[in-house]
Amino acid sequence: MIQYIVFDFDGTLADTIDAIKEVVSSEMNDINEEDFEFLRSEGIKKLIKRKNIPLHKLPKMILHFTSRLNAKKDIPLYPEMIPILHKLSSYYRLGIVSSNSEENIRQCLEKHQVEHLFDFVYSQSSIFGKHLVLKSMFKKHKLNPAEIIYVGDEDRDIIACKKAKIRTIAVCWGFNSEKRLREVNPDYVATSPKEIMDMLDIS
Ligand SMILES: [Mg+2]
Repeated sequence: MIQYIVFDFDGTLADTIDAIKEVVSSEMNDINEEDFEFLRSEGIKKLIKRKNIPLHKLPKMILHFTSRLNAKKDIPLYPEMIPILHKLSSYYRLGIVSSNSEENIRQCLEKHQVEHLFDFVYSQSSIFGKHLVLKSMFKKHKLNPAEIIYVGDEDRDIIACKKAKIRTIAVCWGFNSEKRLREVNPDYVATSPKEIMDMLDIS
């Protein structure tokens, strides 16, 4: 039985997309709206190829983008997610797992007065993959994978959850397109925050 709902932060709860666009546009010239849509459905590697950027520059670019993004304050929560979080918290325990800093995340939750709805914020990243982050989160917070459902916006989140044997809801308003998310077979796909409730049978 599901006891916990664990959310990814950026792109799932927080509307990081505009911040990403700003960082990417300032780092890569000649990037446009069409390129972003391409990025959401095809991924960073194909975008790099399309823009003729040498592949060896990719790891450094990603690190650079991530640190600039993490330095960004005042990222808002998706407004439609706020009532959903309130409702879900009366049925389930809620947590967050993210590579963003705990300080950024807590600041954002506090600003929207939803911090008390969450049991934990687990901030961690691993160059060896998010499934290892999930496993260390299970250990730290004494979680049983069978009792968790994960909500995230990226294909690599879904892949990591499969490795860590937890169920998934992929959300389509974040960093990856619905098409790309469906390719990795999440348990559920939500095209709007309300659909998360429908999937969990909460009205
Ligand atoms: Mg995300």
